[in-house]
Amino acid sequence: MGKKSLITLDLNFMGMPGTIAAYLLPYSSGVVLIECGPGSTREALIAGLRAHGFTPGDISDVFLTHIHLDHAGAAGWLSRQGARIHVHPVGAPHLIDPEKLLASAQRIYGEHMQRLWGEFLPVLPDKLSVLSDDQTVEIDELHIRAIDTPGHAEHHFAYLCNGICFTGDIGGVRMAGFQHIRLPMPPPEFHLEKWRRSIQRLQSESFQFIAPTHYGLFADPQRHLAAVWQALDEIEAWMEAIMPGEPDFETLNRQFLSWTEQRSLAAGLTHEQLQAYELANPSWMSTYGIQRYWRKQRNLGNPSM
Ligand SMILES: [Zn+2]
Repeated sequence: MGKKSLITLDLNFMGMPGTIAAYLLPYSSGVVLIECGPGSTREALIAGLRAHGFTPGDISDVFLTHIHLDHAGAAGWLSRQGARIHVHPVGAPHLIDPEKLLASAQRIYGEHMQRLWGEFLPVLPDKLSVLSDDQTVEIDELHIRAIDTPGHAEHHFAYLCNGICFTGDIGGVRMAGFQHIRLPMPPPEFHLEKWRRSIQRLQSESFQFIAPTHYGLFADPQRHLAAVWQALDEIEAWMEAIMPGEPDFETLNRQFLSWTEQRSLAAGLTHEQLQAYELANPSWMSTYGIQRYWRKQRNLGNPSM
């Protein structure tokens, strides 16, 4: 099995190919999706399904790595087409009642909310499947195992199936054709130590391919995970150098952007490729995440934040 049985659907987010994937696993009597992308790319999802001879009604199951809008936005709509939606227990309540999730996204994205993410419908309660750590779901010949992997978000699973590890965002962001890895570190749950433990956990599993949602299938999982580890070391060293100076948000953001850009250019990326990484994983979002992590976990700065 492995690579051949997997179809990568490019959701062409914001007109940029290769930034957000949904993964299609056909089996004898239907198809499974790992991730479904945001509401704004629903038409691209439907077109991608059609190109492979499927309709949304053929999707029996959707496995969400986590509930951030770029991974899970279309799940409510898909539940209305008949799909069962599998999710982490901490994320589940927000799929049934997304009001808080959407309000906090609205604060972050403001006027760009609709254009970026489109419609986010609640998941139908009777279509929701809450998984536990290490649980395997059997769908005919497919065996899909959930692995609790906090660090990017508390409510994050990686999934193992057919020798492929679907890493959501815990495996970082890596564009097709590159080895370079960036870490998406959004507020409020980015947590360096938990992230390291999640990577160790994945390193103890055996699989031949790794498939981050941003973006694509890679055949060097151990090297990939080592690069995530390295990126965690680098951001920790950077934070330890910068954060004790208690920079305000604007200063921190400027410094982080420039550090990120230098790191990417040193890895051989062009400015255009840099843009693709930036679209899949905006730096300012990580600036917020870093700031929050440092205040909460390292007990520095304003303790009331
Ligand atoms: Zn995410």
